[in-house]
Amino acid sequence: MEIKEAQKKIKQFDIAGGWENNWNLKDLALNITEEVGEFWSLIKWINDEKQKEVIKNNKEEASDFIGDTLFLLLKLSNQMGIDSSVSLQNTLNEYEKRMPPEVMKKVGHANKLAGGHDNKEFDSQIK
Ligand SMILES: [Mg+2]
Repeated sequence: MEIKEAQKKIKQFDIAGGWENNWNLKDLALNITEEVGEFWSLIKWINDEKQKEVIKNNKEEASDFIGDTLFLLLKLSNQMGIDSSVSLQNTLNEYEKRMPPEVMKKVGHANKLAGGHDNKEFDSQIK
């Protein structure tokens, strides 16, 4: 399903139930953090390798997290009159501009750089 189609379906779902204007932005945002917390509880305090193993053994929970979070993000988009497909394209454009493949390969993944965002070598490579 395309993201634009999904957003429209969620809007129709809310309209059908008479709920289209009854959402509080703050509560939707907090609901997203609740989903993130549920996902985090699956993988918290374990290393990268163990996280991959946990996800492999809990694909359904991981999939629920993605579905629930996307649902809420698209509902939030509807409430704010934002086309999520435009938002996503803009974000992708920004990543492609800031992180061209040659820079990504040169600096390596940020998780492997001590200090991450504070690493001056990494920061000097990105625009
Ligand atoms: Mg959930």
